[in-house]
Amino acid sequence: MDKKLAAYICSGCGIGEHIDMEKLGQVASKEYKIPVCRTSECLCGPEGVALIRKDVEAGEANCLAIAACSGRVMHDVFDFPGCLVDRVNLREQVAWCIRPNEELDDPNEDIQMMAEDYLRMGLVKLKKMEPPEPYKPEEEMSKDILVIGGGLSGLTAAKEASSAGYKVILVEKEAELGGFQKKVRQKVTLPYKQVLDNDLPQRVQSVLNDDKITVYTNAKVEKTAGGPCLFNISIRQNGAPPKEGEEAEPAIEHKVGAIVLATGWKPYDPTKLDARLGYGQSSRIITNAVFEETGKSLEKMDNVAFLQCAGSRDPQRLPYCSSICCITSLKHAIQIKTLNPEANVFIVYKELRTPGQAEDLYRAAQEAGVVFIRCQDPEVKVQGDSVTVLAEDELLGETVEIDGLDLVVLATGMVPVTSFGVDVKKKELEAEAEQPKKASDALPVPVDVIRASDCLNLGYRQGPELPDLKYGFPDSHFVCFPYESRRTGIYATGCVRRAMGSASAIEDATGAAMKAIQAVEAISEGRALHPRAGDLSYPEIYLSRCTQCRRCTDECPFGALNEDEKSNPVPVPTRCRRCGICMGACPERIISFKNYSVDMIGAMLKELEMPEEDEEKPRVLIFACENDSYPALDMVGLKRLNYSAYVRIIPLRCLGSLNLVWIADALSTGYDGVMLFGCRHGDDYQCHFVRGSELANIRMSKISETLTRLALEPERIRVEEIGITDVDRIPEIIAEFMETIDEVGPNPFKDL
Ligand code: SF4
Ligand code: SF4
Repeated sequence: MDKKLAAYICSGCGIGEHIDMEKLGQVASKEYKIPVCRTSECLCGPEGVALIRKDVEAGEANCLAIAACSGRVMHDVFDFPGCLVDRVNLREQVAWCIRPNEELDDPNEDIQMMAEDYLRMGLVKLKKMEPPEPYKPEEEMSKDILVIGGGLSGLTAAKEASSAGYKVILVEKEAELGGFQKKVRQKVTLPYKQVLDNDLPQRVQSVLNDDKITVYTNAKVEKTAGGPCLFNISIRQNGAPPKEGEEAEPAIEHKVGAIVLATGWKPYDPTKLDARLGYGQSSRIITNAVFEETGKSLEKMDNVAFLQCAGSRDPQRLPYCSSICCITSLKHAIQIKTLNPEANVFIVYKELRTPGQAEDLYRAAQEAGVVFIRCQDPEVKVQGDSVTVLAEDELLGETVEIDGLDLVVLATGMVPVTSFGVDVKKKELEAEAEQPKKASDALPVPVDVIRASDCLNLGYRQGPELPDLKYGFPDSHFVCFPYESRRTGIYATGCVRRAMGSASAIEDATGAAMKAIQAVEAISEGRALHPRAGDLSYPEIYLSRCTQCRRCTDECPFGALNEDEKSNPVPVPTRCRRCGICMGACPERIISFKNYSVDMIGAMLKELEMPEEDEEKPRVLIFACENDSYPALDMVGLKRLNYSAYVRIIPLRCLGSLNLVWIADALSTGYDGVMLFGCRHGDDYQCHFVRGSELANIRMSKISETLTRLALEPERIRVEEIGITDVDRIPEIIAEFMETIDEVGPNPFKDL
């Protein structure tokens, strides 16, 4: 690209109040010799935009430094096709959050310095940037969608995707479609009016009749290779086993664009329940799943007790609420009462959870005469054929004895199928620990728990299945990105994603189908998915300088880098989410993006006027993750809170993309301190790239040793976890760090 830099500076929204526009413009025109430098009182207005467009159309500008509001707003207004654009944030992060210093001869001096530094950074960034070219492989991309699991969620996802015009491959391991719902004869309508026959047969038929959906039953996905839009799927269908001397049927191959994992749940294992619940001691004690499966709900009975939360919400067993057991027991109780209004039906509960419209169902059960007993710890006694429940009724304050029971139904919860299997990654690491040490051991990388549950059989370096959280649900960013897994283009839905009832599963599967469609549409155009939606860049690796340290392949949270037999990274670009974590990890600094590189950020941080030590104007560099921290910093401005004029903020795609060389560069440039603002990490992480902030923390634990070696105080570097709701804390955090810097004194490398 023949770059033609131009600077456009806005004085609107209060920017011009404390910033000398002419002086600022001279930074571009005199210091950087940029021929096109214009100011406007309202750059986002029609006249301002026309000013820019005129230069672009005249061929005088194609690299635009727009010094105005935050890059998080007015994106469409300042989008000039064919141009590189950098937004210099003078509004939210200068004019709106920095106060004049009345103690100075010129109270606006520090504000002016800050604005000028940001403009310098923006200009050097544009100089270092290249226009990204979307990744377009030679082989044809597919937009077909694979749905694994033919239960209610899978059927819904398949039908929704097909209705939107996409071809679907549906793989079901059983001989028939329907999953657990095949066993459910009746369902309740919400708001509750009646119990109705299950409409599953119509749903199954609709999928079977759909020309756009190819169904494989008795089948499993034997292998998933490639990446989004280029997934090569091998499906093995169980036919008659080959006779001796005959070859097995070849696997069926399909290329697909995205995958919806709808493999469902299994009931919690009742043999693990507390012995007080009596499971296994009498055939009269069964689980809710068996009650449903065996059609007991449609048998006439006289005395039945339902015991809720059997094993659920118990830290030793199933710590979570499956959200559906209470509603299921209410349905079962109503079914029994409908067949036999004289029946004695008891529901023994810790708390009855009937959110939203399910409350109607609770009232209907009350009206039908179901007896509710609130008890935290019921006990089931078995003597011969007689089964009794003892329940200390919290409301009556006495123990109730329910004897002569035909059935005791234990309401056990739901466990995702992905939680079954072997922890492959742990096993791999154990095996690796016995091998001689490798360079990659230098940094302990957090380990994904990946179980070989035989659903996807991914050909990924990181393991064959989706990583999951502690309860076995495939991980998603629960705050911002439901359905999302750590494998791009693969979306979990239904009860494999979280415990849910059938109404929620239908909604959930519709959402997952939409996510899959969004993925194939974006990726087939070379665009990134969220949070960097639309980004056309992808990492390029200068392989001839690779030392095979394996840090990038270890640390990529999305499994976008495979590895060859010599431990070289093998990028699979359509899996990439453009977080830049590989770039931060690489000690050789050979991974970069066209519009984001170690060199670019390194140049930006150096591109400022560093005050001399005797000026007593310290400088603190803040690397702020652009997902939560940078917007939170913008919101500090929006709320007109304020912080020190001595900080300089550089946004990073993810704190995990931080390369340690930037810290060394910052200290040698003369910054007195460096702060790293990233998302929360841990089990309830909010890092948009899963563990970028955690990796940054691990890297930083190494830097404090380096600082000590250089006789620099470790206090000069601080990592802060910032959530989007931490806006009010930010000024305090910065003020406190400025005090620390004041105490440790100026960086001794400042004047070298
Ligand atoms: S670490 Fe991030 S940028 Fe690098 S390959 Fe993986 S997803 Fe892509
Ligand atoms: S690209 Fe960099 S991080 Fe990845 S293996 Fe090579 S040297 Fe290591």
